[in-house]
Amino acid sequence: MKKKRASAKEVYTLADLQSWRDVDPPIRVGIFGDPVEHSLSPQMQNAALKHSKIDMQYARFHILPAELSEALDRVRELEFVGLNLTLPHKIAAPELVDRVDDDAKQIGAVNVIKIDNGKSDGFNTDGRGFARAIREEFSVDLRDLRVMILGAGGAARAIAFECAKSHCERLVIANGTFEKGERLAEKLRNFFEGPKVLGPVPRLQAIRWEESAFQFQIANVDLVVNATPVGLNRGDPSPLSARLLAPHLMVYDTIYSAERTPLISAAIEAGARAANGLSMLLHQGALAFEIWFERPAPLEVMRKAL
Ligand code: NAP
Repeated sequence: MKKKRASAKEVYTLADLQSWRDVDPPIRVGIFGDPVEHSLSPQMQNAALKHSKIDMQYARFHILPAELSEALDRVRELEFVGLNLTLPHKIAAPELVDRVDDDAKQIGAVNVIKIDNGKSDGFNTDGRGFARAIREEFSVDLRDLRVMILGAGGAARAIAFECAKSHCERLVIANGTFEKGERLAEKLRNFFEGPKVLGPVPRLQAIRWEESAFQFQIANVDLVVNATPVGLNRGDPSPLSARLLAPHLMVYDTIYSAERTPLISAAIEAGARAANGLSMLLHQGALAFEIWFERPAPLEVMRKAL
C-alpha cells in the first residue's frame, strides 16, 4: 500500500530545508523571497506542472538574505530542478550560482535558477517576459517604441536592457536617485549608437524625478513603464499624476497586486491605454518553466491559473 505523506505547507523556511520532509508529489521547484507570501507563482506553476503531467510541486520559501547561500546549497543537495528568485535575492544570486547566462550577467540579476547534476545555472526572464507582455497588451514591438522607465532597480534594469537589446527608438530612465539612473543609461550606451535619428531629443537619457522633466518627456515617448514599487501599498499615490499623462501613451505598470494600480487609474483618466504586470509575471514564469523542463509551457493554463 502507498504510504501517505504530509501535504505541502503554505510557506517553507531554511529550517525546513535543513531537515527536509517531502510531500506527494515531491517539491522540486519553488520561489525564494523575503517576503514571499504574496507570490502568485505557485498557483501558475503548479497548474502548469499538473497539466504537463510532471509529478512535482512548486512551493514558496521564505528565505532571508543571510540564508540565501545555504538555502541554495540545500536545494542542490535535494536535487531540486529549479527556482525562481524574487526580492531581495535577484541581485545577490549571480555570485552564488555556478554559471550565469549572458542576459543575467548584463542585467546583473538572476530570477531563474536551473539545477542539473548538482550545478546551478542563473538566468533572467524578466526582460523577455516584459517584451512579450508589451506585444500581447498593446500589439506592438519594443523596437518601434520610445520608452520611459520609472525606476533603476532590478526590474528596471531587466526592462531597460531588453529595450536596448531590441533597439527601441528611444529610452529614458527616470529614477529618484538620479546617479543610479545615469549609471544604468551609461551601461546601455553602446546599444544606442546606431543610425536612428529622432531630432532634438537624445535617444538615451537619464532624467531627474521632477515634474518638469516628466512633462517634457511625455511628449517624446510612447510607452511609460512603472518599475518602482510605488502603487504596491494601499494609499500610495500614482508615480505620475493624470495631469502629466496624455492620450497617446501606452502605460505599463509592472505591479500586479491590484486590477487598477494608482498609475493605471491615472492613465485611464488621461485617456491612455494601460495594463498591469500580470502579463509580465505570466510570461517570465512561462520562460522559466521552459528553462527548467525544456518543453513549451502551457501558457493558457498558466494564464487561467493567475
Ligand atoms: P528594487 O530593485 O528595490 O528597485 C526599486 C526602484 O524603485 C528603485 O529604482 C527606487 O529608486 C525606486 N523607488 C522606490 N521607492 C520609490 C518612491 N517612493 N518614489 C520613486 N521611486 C522609488 O525593486 P525591483 O525588484 O526593481 O521591483 C520594482 C517593482 O517591480 C516591484 O513593485 C515589483 O512588483 C515589480 N516587478 C514586477 C514583475 C512582474 O513580473 N510583473 C517582476 C519584477 C518586479 P532609488 O534608486 O532612488 O531608491
